[in-house]
Amino acid sequence: MTVLFSQKRILVTGGAGFLGSHLCRRLVKQGHEVLCVDNFCTGTRRNIIDLLDDPKFDLLRHNVTFPLFVEVDEIYNLACPASPIHYQMDPVQTTKTSVSGAINMLGLAKRLKIRILQASTSEVYGDPVVHPQPEEYWGNVNPIGSRSCYDEGKRCAETLFFDYYRQHNLGIKVARIFNTYGPNMRPDDGRVVSNFICQALLGEDVTIYGHGQQTRSFCYVTDLIDGLDRLMNSPPNITGPINIGNPGEFTMRELAEKVLAITGSKSKLVERSLPEDDPKQRKPTIELAGKLLGWRPTINLDEGLKSTIAYFEGLLREHGKAIVGDRTLQPSSAIDK
Ligand code: NAD
Ligand code: UDP
Ligand code: UDP
Repeated sequence: MTVLFSQKRILVTGGAGFLGSHLCRRLVKQGHEVLCVDNFCTGTRRNIIDLLDDPKFDLLRHNVTFPLFVEVDEIYNLACPASPIHYQMDPVQTTKTSVSGAINMLGLAKRLKIRILQASTSEVYGDPVVHPQPEEYWGNVNPIGSRSCYDEGKRCAETLFFDYYRQHNLGIKVARIFNTYGPNMRPDDGRVVSNFICQALLGEDVTIYGHGQQTRSFCYVTDLIDGLDRLMNSPPNITGPINIGNPGEFTMRELAEKVLAITGSKSKLVERSLPEDDPKQRKPTIELAGKLLGWRPTINLDEGLKSTIAYFEGLLREHGKAIVGDRTLQPSSAIDK
């Protein structure tokens, strides 16, 4: 039997979610043992179904707001609903997940003297008045609005990470993740890429919030996971926060038009009211990730959308839905490393 001396036992909280499932799969492929901890509030078994029979993969249904006593070598803390409609459904639980969840995972890392990575977010910049957003920018966040449970929860989690670093000398890594998309998002996730694709594939109206002039920068999931892996395995003095995202910037109307063009759908673009405190523009500066991690995104939006559309097409067919449009797409695995 080959013994992998670099093999670790790695805890991934939120491992049944969109990003977590890709991370678990990558770590198992690298030869590590993975303990996925998830309460399934937005995650699904389908995302990790292929891993369930793998002897290197363990699944524990657990809410990170409660203490967790396990023995691992490294922690990726991803547990937290990420879509506005989901994190606003139970806002108190969202803040608890970010804050109490971070305290528990930091306490666990402190007891075991191990590294811990936090999945932070571009939402810490709020509705930014500095564009694009560098890591030094402190943000423009409403502390009492409907997005605050997520934004302020994630900001407080960053505070906790840096206090455990300063007070307990803990090995921390903080990634500020910008909008990421790809296979394993839920069709009812509510975020813009999954909404537009499912609406286009089903021939439903594509819902543009406001006039669609707000911008976002979309990173394909495999690029993002590569960035997290590089950050976790970077030298101890690299703590972050580090932006991980794709700087290509698009309006939501441009995104909708791309989705219609690729799906060949004749869906109509309709305008709906803009949600409260919806950031008007967002784009990361990624020089720091380039310099410190040698990381840059490799998959452009058209390429990533094709793969994501192929995934949703398969998923919707599985659910017995009729798909519209005229296209030939590559399977999603074609660009998934
Ligand atoms: P997701 O909703 O698909 O996954 C989150 C996972 O965490 C789900 O499996 C959910 O069941 C689990 N979870 C939630 N609360 C929990 C709790 N209290 N205890 C245990 N498990 C819990 O979201 P995602 O897009 O995969 O995001 C993963 C992480 O990355 C989140 O922390 C999110 O804030 C961060 N992030 C994501 C994006 C993005 O664009 N995808 C952008 C910025 C930050
Ligand atoms: N904790 C945990 N698992 C551990 C160690 C700690 O869940 O293996 C939790 C513990 O319940 C506590 C939190 O992490 O609520 C913070 O722990 P820490 O030791 O930093 O603080 P203290 O216990 O001194 O409040
Ligand atoms: N959005 C939209 N139509 C939708 C869903 C979202 O126009 O069906 C817009 C939303 O108002 C926001 C952008 O798309 O301006 C990104 O929204 P998402 O919820 O994906 O992420 P976040 O706002 O957290 O960046």
